[in-house]
Amino acid sequence: MAYKIISDCNNCGACEPECPNNAISMGDDLYVIKLEACTECVGFHDAPQCAAVCPVDACVTDPAHVETEAVLIEKAKKLHPGKDYSGKLPSHFRK
Ligand code: SF4
Ligand code: SF4
Repeated sequence: MAYKIISDCNNCGACEPECPNNAISMGDDLYVIKLEACTECVGFHDAPQCAAVCPVDACVTDPAHVETEAVLIEKAKKLHPGKDYSGKLPSHFRK
């Protein structure tokens, strides 16, 4: 399930550099998450980093885009083809 940014966002910018997939950028009015680049941080962290740093809880799951861990791993592999995915794979599904 991709994350999305809701209207509570105050444009502080804290989430943007935390995303391992560069999925976050400033949109027309608020920061936005590029759906196709969000892996829920699977492959990099055991918790979604945007949600972890957001001071106003504006990074939330998007129920309209539910994805399994397997789909998110494939997404991460496509986004980072040079990364070694052997061994422990960080994922909030495995906490
Ligand atoms: S959940 Fe992770 S991959 Fe998705 S937008 Fe937030 S920081 Fe980026
Ligand atoms: S950390 Fe939260 S408030 Fe700050 S830009 Fe990101 S979504 Fe908006």
